Amino acid sequence: MKHRVDQFELLWKNAPSFRKKQFLEALFSETFLDFQSVSVFPKEKRESLAENIPWMMWKKKYIFSAKAKDTYKALLVSPDDGVSIETVLMKNARGHWTVCVSSQVGCAMKCSFCATGTMGFSRNLFCDEIVDQYRFWKLFLREKSIEGEITNIVYMGMGEPLANYEEVRSSLQMFLEYAEIGLTRITVSTVGMLPALNRLLEDPLWPSVRLAVSLHSADEKTRKNLMPTSYDGFLEDLFMWAKKYFLLYPERRRHLTFEYVVLGGVNDTKEHAEKLALFAQRLGKVRINLIPWNATGGHFHSSVNVEAFQSYIKKQGIVVTIRRAMGADISGACGQLVVDKKS
Ligand code: SAH
Repeated sequence: MKHRVDQFELLWKNAPSFRKKQFLEALFSETFLDFQSVSVFPKEKRESLAENIPWMMWKKKYIFSAKAKDTYKALLVSPDDGVSIETVLMKNARGHWTVCVSSQVGCAMKCSFCATGTMGFSRNLFCDEIVDQYRFWKLFLREKSIEGEITNIVYMGMGEPLANYEEVRSSLQMFLEYAEIGLTRITVSTVGMLPALNRLLEDPLWPSVRLAVSLHSADEKTRKNLMPTSYDGFLEDLFMWAKKYFLLYPERRRHLTFEYVVLGGVNDTKEHAEKLALFAQRLGKVRINLIPWNATGGHFHSSVNVEAFQSYIKKQGIVVTIRRAMGADISGACGQLVVDKKS
């Protein structure tokens, strides 16, 4: 049985719908630590829920803490099939916390600069396994009496979220309803899977959370070299998609970001900045987020031109930010999440 809610419905046949709501509320509540303590349910129901449904989908293997105590990374194991994932908790600029969730075990996209790609793809995560990364960190903050609330969620851990469309969509719905984290505080980052990007345009059930597309180059050839999922004509297809997205949702313009990992000598020259600026200008008001490369042991190196690159783009009237690197001392930064299959 894949989903806790389905298990609940099997165990509690014909339960009124408010019971299902209470079940989900209990999982996200600060008050309860297990099904036994969910006092709104009759005792025998609590016992059967506790016996049959996992309260937490993950077992903790390690927690790594950055020296600055502003980033934590957890290695979590599934008791079901023993797979491991990583999830990260980062302090954000406002002193609150952002949870970075994984959506798959490993990743099939094989972006050449990303460590996760090297471990290959094992399986998709279920909705409950995604939301339990957030629940895990919520409990962690409480247990350690660490101050601050979790206010943001980013789908930037292991995996390609849009390659696990349904489960990611269910997890978004669950966060919005039960974690009370708003649409503008959740970001799904994608390699740019156009079939799925097109699907969400026509999907009334897809919540209008923020989207970040990993562009990494506005030059077709460079992008293809970096990302094997790219192809001749990708940039034009992405452009057409973005046009449709803005037409359908004019108010969501600010919800679209292009991520750009700046790689020394690869995509950080003036010519690359010009191509990126042109691409963004043609689209109108998009946001660009430059990511300084985080070491992953490959043949890349970081760029000394990040500031100059930013200032060129800015001069063209485009909103461009540089992502703060978090958790580099615990390999918890973008693209550094990798689990040894044997660990
Ligand atoms: N599969 C999703 C999520 C990936 S992680 C996606 O492709 O968007 C979030 C961001 O970190 C992506 O933009 C990804 O390309 C970037 N990234 C991957 N490896 C990196 C590295 N070594 N240094 C900096 N950013 C990296």
